[in-house]
Parts: sequence; structure tokens; C-alpha cells
Amino acid sequence: MSAPVSYHMTPDEFRRNGRAMIEWIAQYHERIESYPVFSRVKPGDVRASLPAGPPLKGENFEDMLGDIEKIIIPGITHWQSPNFFAYFPSNTSGPAILGELLTAGLGVQGMLWATSPACTELETHVLDWLVDMLGLPSKFRSESAGGGMIQDTASGAAICAMLAARERATDFRSNQHGCDGRLVAYTSDQAHSSIEKAAMITGIGRSNLRLIETDERFAFRPERLAEQIRIDRNNGLVPFFVSATVGTTSSNALDPLPDIGAICAREKLWFHVDAAMSGTAALCPEFRYIQNGLEFADSYCFNPHKWMFTNFDCDCFYVADRASLIKTLSILPEYLRNKATESGAVIDYRDWQIPLGRRFRSLKLWFVIRYYGIEGLQYHVRRHVELAQEFARWISGSGDFELVVPPPLNLVCFRHKRGDDFNKKLLDRLNESGDLYLTHTTLNGRYTLRLVVGQTGTEERHVRRAWGKIVATAGELEN
Ligand code: PLP
Repeated sequence: MSAPVSYHMTPDEFRRNGRAMIEWIAQYHERIESYPVFSRVKPGDVRASLPAGPPLKGENFEDMLGDIEKIIIPGITHWQSPNFFAYFPSNTSGPAILGELLTAGLGVQGMLWATSPACTELETHVLDWLVDMLGLPSKFRSESAGGGMIQDTASGAAICAMLAARERATDFRSNQHGCDGRLVAYTSDQAHSSIEKAAMITGIGRSNLRLIETDERFAFRPERLAEQIRIDRNNGLVPFFVSATVGTTSSNALDPLPDIGAICAREKLWFHVDAAMSGTAALCPEFRYIQNGLEFADSYCFNPHKWMFTNFDCDCFYVADRASLIKTLSILPEYLRNKATESGAVIDYRDWQIPLGRRFRSLKLWFVIRYYGIEGLQYHVRRHVELAQEFARWISGSGDFELVVPPPLNLVCFRHKRGDDFNKKLLDRLNESGDLYLTHTTLNGRYTLRLVVGQTGTEERHVRRAWGKIVATAGELEN
């Protein structure tokens, strides 16, 4: 018999390579401001630097690490740069990265309580902590009829909410027989595209999703919702679901949850609230007004992977009545049967989500909350809002720029007064400079620049520098 062969990395090699990897990440974060924020590679550049085929013989780790700097870094848009002001943030932090590493190290698949009790129980516990930390209604705590769990994304949460709403509205017949095309869902014309995608995926159909008009601040108009529900009922359709947003993607608009919620309660519609980025603001008591009306909600989600220093992916999803969700998504094949599930004493999160398998995602959230403490998280969120508000004051005070809408939190929507073409050119020129990264939207049909303060390392000097760069670049373009 030949001697046993192993191609695996030994614990000693892992230790050595792991130290090098951590050192690389630490140095990356230290020098992140030296890179152009927005990647300059052309389509195909990254692939052209890679070998055509995979290696037959294993390579050493030093070479792999070397290729990160050579091949990968040029193709990175540096989301963690303090000069990244684009989209909504997708921030991270030291404790989150280390928590993620531990998740990979433990390699747990937590589909059932029984497949790793700590994976389920830590998640339930941390999600309960967050109910208190954010001042959410107690119906979302695990000891009530509801509860929370971690989904991959707000998009996944919206799909689960819409599915549970669909089943509740059809007395669980749609799961059995499919949809009959009469169910109607509602959201605003400023809602995130994930709601439209949910309508496509859940079999409701895009044409059965009504995009309700918004007001001058781009917030959902409840009276238009009530009117549309009446029209749909008169046409023999079945309204079943409404999604409102706390902090819309384009302009950070805050939908009037109390009024929308009261309509949903009266009409017996499932009320979902999407607070993907802005939900984090509720860590600070002075911003909790944004979620007034959540007492009406059947489901709620926000993403610590946007603004709470927890790396992607991590969406916290809460339901007021977990039985509807579980009844919607639960199927128990023989091979998953176990005593703990049958005892009814445990949570099996596989029944709360679309995939079967799930990662131990609560570790990174637990690490972040413990490392920063409530105080630390509040400090940084407050600081981001203050910096965005200061930026907005500079815009208001300038003769050349204008605010498109007053910024409620950390997103500022603004434009140069010279019109759409000028603003487009300005954005391109700014992003090509590599000094900062901004994105745009259209509001009232006009091209609008967006600056979000939400990256972990963003401080006053970065926002000040961004403003200086914007003014100087606009000056160059004018001449
Ligand atoms: N909802 C809102 C308001 C968003 O702004 C976004 C993304 O920016 C999403 C949902 C989708 O987030 P996710 O990537 O977690 O699906």
C-alpha cells in the first residue's frame, strides 16, 4: 500500500498563512485612501490577467496573496474607503471581519436547531437585543408570537414577507394550487426595485404591483393608497400586501407609517416595512421617530450590512406572527426529522427562509455589538448624520448648488444649478479623479447627485475634502 497522501493545508501552514492574510487586510485598510475609489479597469481586464485554465498542481499561498495585489486590487471599487459616498454604504469593521472569519472557521450549517444549537440560539438572542437597541415593538421579540432572524438581504426578506402575506390572504391555498392573478400588492413609486422583484418571484406579477404616487418629499401618499385599494376591490381584485420604506434609496424619504399602517389594519393587508439602510439610525433615540407606526407592521427589515459596521451579508428580518411565515415555508422531509424539531421546543430557521442551508451569520453581528457597545454605535451613526447635515448646509449656502430635498439623515441629494448635462459631466469628472465616489438618481425628472455619509472610516476631513473637490471641479467645468 502506498503512503497516505494529503493535499490539505496543515494547521501550522494555516496559522502562518492566516497571519499573513490578516496582516494583508490590516495594511489594506491602512492604505485604502491611496487607491482610486472607483476601479479604473476596463471590461475584460481582470480576466485577461488570469491564467486561461486552473492549475494541475497546487500553488503556494504566498503566490496567491501576491496576485491579490497584482490582479484583484486594480479591479476593486473601494467600498470601505472613507471617500466612498456612493449608493448606500456596505460598511464593515474589525470585529465584523473577525466574526466572519470565525464563521468560516467553524464551518457550521445551521439549517436546524439540532445541526448546531448555538447558531440558532445566538441569532435569536442577538435579534432580541436589537429589538431593545432600536426601540422596535415588543411583538418582534422571540418570546411573543413573532420573532427575528437573519436573512441574506432586504430583497430576500421582501420575498419571504410577500410569500407569507400571499398565503395568509389565500388561506394557504396558493402554495398548493398557485396564484389566480387576483392578488394585488402596493408600494410607492420610490420603493426599492426589490419589491418589484418580489412580486415577480412570488407569482403575484408585476402588473399586480401598484406603484403609488409620492408627495413633494418623495414619501408614499396614503390617501392615494386608500383610493387605489378601493378601485381594485371594486374590480374584483384582492389587495393583500403593502410595503413602505423608511429611507428610500433615491432620496431617503420616510414614508408615513402610522397612516399607511392604519389603512393596512382597516383593510386587513400585510404591512411590510423596509428600512434597509436607515433603520440603523434608530440606535439613537433622537432618530426613532422614523419608525413611528411600526406597531402596525406585520414584518420589518433593516440591514446591518449597510450602515451598522457589519459586513455583507446581514439583513435582520422580523415578523409579528411567526406562525404564518413558518406555515408558508415549512416542508419536513424524512431526512430532516429529529427529536428537537418534533419536541416543538426549538426554532428551525430553515422554515423562515428560502434556502435550506444557512451560515452562522450572527457571530459577526454579536461581535460588532459587543465591541462597539450601544454607545459606540450611537456615536458613529450620530457623527455620520451630523456630517451629512453639515454638507447639506454647505450646499444651501453656495450660490451654484441647490438641495433637491431636505436630507432627513445621512443622504444628501443635490445638484449644480447649470442643469442635467452639467451635473452628469461633473459626476463623471469627480469619479474619474479617483478621489471620491458619488452616484446619481433622478428626482422629479431631474438628474440629481447623491452623497451618503456612512462608511466606517469617514470623518469630517473626508467630507470637507469631497466638498472642496466638488466645488473645484464644477469651477473647472464652468471655465
Ligand atoms: N431596500 C432599500 C430601501 C434599499 O436601499 C436597498 C439597497 O440599497 C434594498 C432594499 C436592497 O438591499 P439588499 O441588497 O439587502 O437586497
